[in-house]
Amino acid sequence: MDSKIIDGTDLSAQIKAEVKNHVKRLKSKMARPPGLSVVLVGDDPASAVYVRNKQRAAKEAGMIGNTIAMPHSSTEDEIIQVVNELNIDASCDGILVQLPLPDHINEATVTSSIDPLKDVDGLHPNNAGLLAAGTPRFVPATPGGIVQMLLRTGNNPSGKRVVILGRSNIVGRPISNLLSMKGEGGDATVTICHSRTKNIGDVCRSAEILIAAIGIPGFVTSDMVSDGVVAIDVGINRVEATDRKRGYKLVGDIDFSGVSKRASAITPVPGGVGPMTIAMLLSNTIDAVGFH
Ligand code: NAD
Repeated sequence: MDSKIIDGTDLSAQIKAEVKNHVKRLKSKMARPPGLSVVLVGDDPASAVYVRNKQRAAKEAGMIGNTIAMPHSSTEDEIIQVVNELNIDASCDGILVQLPLPDHINEATVTSSIDPLKDVDGLHPNNAGLLAAGTPRFVPATPGGIVQMLLRTGNNPSGKRVVILGRSNIVGRPISNLLSMKGEGGDATVTICHSRTKNIGDVCRSAEILIAAIGIPGFVTSDMVSDGVVAIDVGINRVEATDRKRGYKLVGDIDFSGVSKRASAITPVPGGVGPMTIAMLLSNTIDAVGFH
């Protein structure tokens, strides 16, 4: 693979191997393997794939990976009841409710019902607050994976100008908190752009590290970056591809062919940030074991 391409599959395999070793050590001390429970509501095909991958990865790491599938018609109360049962289940260390939830469900209400000590997605307000205060308990998996990618490829963000596109609670905001935090993996000078940002190209061109998490295929073009940028593409977008058997392909928020010519390092889609997310979820589940 081209040396400038940051290989998320390879890096995630390293982290998964570390987690697997950790699980082995834990198993010798615990009466049971660590347990990760994923709640999947509805029949969104992309979510089903993500959940299957998370469950498989948990099992490969020697954990118990358990999926609770609920119909699209489930009420908020029914989902919260399932979460409450997992909250008190001693064999369950980590709980994740796969997002997005159906439109009739308030995601914030459901997320807030998870025991903060089992909230391996790091989205409970307690955990988001701890991260914002610079004392994280659980770091959301995708942002955590991005920091690992930077550190493990010699792109330490310390002192760098970082521009983040997107301010969601899952990606943009927590990655901005992480990278601006004091200490290892942080100490960057961070700017967040969003849908109301003016002259976004100018802001992007100031970046030494550019992180795109907006959900618009190929939004970042080569004229929006400076030579030598480290480009991290979080976007996962389905675009029509008549030459593919399934009729679509996955692309990121960065125009890979153009930006890769100017970047010193770049993540591909697929095979970049996505696999890191799963590895960090497993790592968070190990941390959760220590909390109860
Ligand atoms: P979101 O829809 O919650 O947030 C999108 C953000 O982009 C918003 O903050 C919005 O202000 C900003 N935005 C929208 N249009 C913009 C524009 N024209 N200019 C600048 N900013 C703009 O999305 P999200 O949940 O953060 O996800 C973003 C992307 O990352 C999606 O493609 C999603 O599938 C992907 N994602 C990938 C992973 C992974 O593991 N790789 C994990 C989570 C999300």
